[in-house]
Amino acid sequence: MLNTPRTKKRPHPSAIGVLDLQGGVCEHLDHLERLGVACRPVKVPANFRGLAGLIIPGGESTCLARLLQIFTLDKIIVREFQRGMKLWGTCAGAIILARTVVGEQPVLGLMDIEIERNSFGSQLDSFTGEAVIPAFSARPLPLTFIRAPQIKKAGKGVKILLKRDNYIAAAESNEILVTVFHPELTGCVAFHRYFARKCGLTPYDEKKVPDIDPTWNPMSWTRHVSVTGPAR
Ligand code: GLN
Repeated sequence: MLNTPRTKKRPHPSAIGVLDLQGGVCEHLDHLERLGVACRPVKVPANFRGLAGLIIPGGESTCLARLLQIFTLDKIIVREFQRGMKLWGTCAGAIILARTVVGEQPVLGLMDIEIERNSFGSQLDSFTGEAVIPAFSARPLPLTFIRAPQIKKAGKGVKILLKRDNYIAAAESNEILVTVFHPELTGCVAFHRYFARKCGLTPYDEKKVPDIDPTWNPMSWTRHVSVTGPAR
């Protein structure tokens, strides 16, 4: 009898993970579910199995960086990224991904952008706005900036998606999306739909769920609280 060695098969990447160490995790899961995208919180190495993409949420980048190191998830993110997993960093997540952080050491350094933390001032200088960003939608989209950073420079291979005054608010490379604002805190699902497609997945289209989901409300995310319990 022929004894063929068994190779461990990798599952076809079919889900998007949300890094679940600190910050706005449930809000992203809620948006992905609205679009029918398989998603899960990512807390331990086993959670990376079969991920087509990973969202690094907003929160506090020093805290996130420390937790990434403590749980050695920084190395796993880099490894999975090199294997094809796409990344999206919102706000603090964008800081974690930047190659250059003004006045500080970079954390993952995977995207050729220069970013400055707390660039608008204190927490009290947070604000909301609106912009048409053709890459995502033809209609104006709500933007929420919470003690946000500013992207100051984008390197080669980085496309600017939204520029305002003297800073860049959204950009992407082939593998990474960064936004300094928080679409997950509004009813706008256009960014999540865009990222899911970037990951090679098929989210519900605009006819089924419009870019601004009318069924969303500021408490919608609370239905996800139960999934962010202890690591499974
Ligand atoms: N100010 C935070 C930082 O520098 C980012 C804030 C956010 O993610 N909303 O890490």
